[in-house]
Amino acid sequence: MRVVVTGAAGGIGRAITARFIGDGARAFLVDLDPSVEETAAQLGSRADGVAGWVASDVSCAPDVDAAADRALACLGGIDVVVNCAGIGGPASSAATMDPGDFRRVVEVNLVGTFLWSRAGARQMLGQETGGAIVNIASLFGQQGAVGAAAYGASKAGVSLLTQSMARELGPHGIRVNAVAPGHIATEMHWDELRARAARAGTSFEEERVKVLGEVPLGRHGTGADVAAVVAWLASDDAAYVTGQTIGVNGGVLGS
Ligand code: NAP
Repeated sequence: MRVVVTGAAGGIGRAITARFIGDGARAFLVDLDPSVEETAAQLGSRADGVAGWVASDVSCAPDVDAAADRALACLGGIDVVVNCAGIGGPASSAATMDPGDFRRVVEVNLVGTFLWSRAGARQMLGQETGGAIVNIASLFGQQGAVGAAAYGASKAGVSLLTQSMARELGPHGIRVNAVAPGHIATEMHWDELRARAARAGTSFEEERVKVLGEVPLGRHGTGADVAAVVAWLASDDAAYVTGQTIGVNGGVLGS
């Protein structure tokens, strides 16, 4: 299996990449953060399944096209694209939010997911061997939250992009699904708790405990929890699953 993972230097993206490599796939890592080079080196050599990496902005169409060419050269084809790159954006309320900040969140989280899904779909259509696209949406794209107007709107968009592309690509054997993580123990989540504490005049620890109180399974999720569901969605075990957004949230939100 030949896999491209965006946001591969981040908490969840790294776990997803490690999972695919551990399962015997070959992976190409994409991230804006130049530390993606270090992440690739830590995950292994070409023999271990690390086919290559690029520091590239998912929101910039020419950069995505160039990065996709490089991924193709390293992998020899693309069977799976995992869109994990994302930003949390401003914690301010919509009433006071700068339009430029709002646009940036949508550009990275939604347009970036579209651009890499498009690049992957074009390659998979040409290969005529089917494939899978797995997008990382969010709990906050499934229900509104204070301080998450831009982020939530961008992630809800990811879920609907997923449904539309699943319908368009299904006849070609290309499945498109999304995973909506809940509270996952990464820097992005800790940043969110710091912002909540600043807004509410509480402490980080108080906010951490409050979040845990909302989770029926009683713990934060891990990158590995998300990676397991992504790996399943990319596998033949999910051969009849497409157009879905699957919550990985410890039971915070039921369906
Ligand atoms: P993270 O550790 O911040 O990882 C995100 C990665 O994406 C970072 O390496 C970041 O680089 C990179 N990135 C940001 N903008 C980019 C761009 N324009 N082009 C390419 N790469 C870019 O966050 P995470 O917690 O692993 O989140 C991964 C995904 O899961 C995100 O889509 C996030 O929205 C989603 N998610 C996370 C949670 C959670 O609780 N952690 C919950 C629901 C959904 P920089 O470090 O340079 O910004």
